[in-house]
Amino acid sequence: MLSIVTFTLGTVMTNSYLVADPETKEATVIDPADKGRMIVNEAEKRGWHIGNIWLTHAHFDHIAGAGGVADHLNPAPPVALHPEDYPLWRMQGGAMLFGMRIDPGPEPTVDLKHGMSLRLGNNQFEVRHAPGHTRGHVIFYCAADKVAFCGDVIFQGSIGRTDLPGGDYDTLIQSIQEQILTLPDETRLLSGHGPETTVGQERRYNPFLVGLDGEAGNHHF
Ligand SMILES: [Zn+2]
Ligand SMILES: [Zn+2]
Repeated sequence: MLSIVTFTLGTVMTNSYLVADPETKEATVIDPADKGRMIVNEAEKRGWHIGNIWLTHAHFDHIAGAGGVADHLNPAPPVALHPEDYPLWRMQGGAMLFGMRIDPGPEPTVDLKHGMSLRLGNNQFEVRHAPGHTRGHVIFYCAADKVAFCGDVIFQGSIGRTDLPGGDYDTLIQSIQEQILTLPDETRLLSGHGPETTVGQERRYNPFLVGLDGEAGNHHF
């Protein structure tokens, strides 16, 4: 069972998630967007220990708080990222394209790979590679809790943009079909921007996806 605290932070209202196993008190930060110190304070208030930073992808608005999280923890937690997003990470997640500079924090040392399993206390997450928004985008899926942290792959009623370097529309649609729409309808989708949704809701109502997988959609009735 997971406890999840959501923060909406930074210049483009990015969702950051502080996720913990309340029994073991182990916590991870998914996409620290900004205000690292505040995220660390929230964990301390709850008696949780942040042991990891997991990045869905390396865009600046998802990593700009990693330095602040690391600065306020001793030892600094290892940062996990898919290697295909390392070049983007080294360019500060494209911050310069938007006229910004960020502190991306400690260099990622945990290479995320498709199918790999991540542990948080007594919980298991599956890493699913879902390129298209960026080359190395991943989602973190916890089957037992029926929740997926899906970054900028899919949003309520929308999908990630594909016009930035490394983006590709057809690849993104394929990733959504293979990595999101294959999950059970009741799976909660916690996105990088906007409100939470579910796989079933997006399967039926997301205008980018309607008609893509009629067979699979009917399968559940
Ligand atoms: Zn992004
Ligand atoms: Zn984003």
